[in-house]
Amino acid sequence: MTTILETLNKSYQDLYNQNIKTAKIDSEIILAEVLKVSRLNLITKQNTSLNRDQQNLYNSLIERRKKNEPVAYILNKKEFWNESYFVDQRVLIPRPETEVIIEMLLKKINNKSKPFCILDIGCGSGCLLISCLQELRRSKGVGVDISSAALEVAHININQNQLGSRAKLIKQDLFKLNIKKKFDIILSNPPYLTDINYTKLESDVKNYEPKMALVGGVDGLKFYKKIISIASASLKKNGFLGLEMGDRHYKEIKKFLFANSFKIIDKFKLINGEIRCILAMKIS
Ligand code: GLN
Repeated sequence: MTTILETLNKSYQDLYNQNIKTAKIDSEIILAEVLKVSRLNLITKQNTSLNRDQQNLYNSLIERRKKNEPVAYILNKKEFWNESYFVDQRVLIPRPETEVIIEMLLKKINNKSKPFCILDIGCGSGCLLISCLQELRRSKGVGVDISSAALEVAHININQNQLGSRAKLIKQDLFKLNIKKKFDIILSNPPYLTDINYTKLESDVKNYEPKMALVGGVDGLKFYKKIISIASASLKKNGFLGLEMGDRHYKEIKKFLFANSFKIIDKFKLINGEIRCILAMKIS
């Protein structure tokens, strides 16, 4: 029988030996989950022993991490905004920078109890759409994705959040999308990495996350013209478009937006100076 402290010390070492820089935090998050306690509890109970089942489960999860599988897939969960989402290899793992879209949007909405209609293009796990539906309690939304596997995960998350008929999912290729409804809010975090960006990704991402959710053609801009033209046709006047984008994309995307009657009302810059998210408004 080994204690929490001994177990953690061994797995830190094992993960470090595999060049995993987040060895300490990963070990703690995984062990806390196995023991169903908080990370703080690991410290206060460090002399407690693990039983055999707990030890076996922990060892098998650490083996997966040693092969670079992301912690979110190992535990089938990832926190995003105020919720915890079910995730597996069918969807991209929600990233913290995507939360900025929600933050920018909520800042501009005074009356959060209005019944907004929201569209999420390329919804993946559903995290953007679901977070908005949780914040804007009388709104309804549609998530579209080309991947039926991703939509299965979005469906799990919609149920987990008890959204019932407030959220609908549609399997469709963006380039064949034919929308008849008008929306108040359109959101999208499309695949935007260039082919070259993709080759340089860490193996955690490259070997596990769905390529189709990451790469947006040679220049990473493949989806934006189409998304912006859909938004231009389907947003109500003064409606919001929230977009995430890749490095050096802003200038080009700004041009598409101006050509389609949008003005940019907020933007978010990373520390390296790259604009990662914007909020635009349809002006006519
Ligand atoms: N931000 C993600 C990454 O760098 C890419 C997400 C996307 O393509 N939408 O891994």
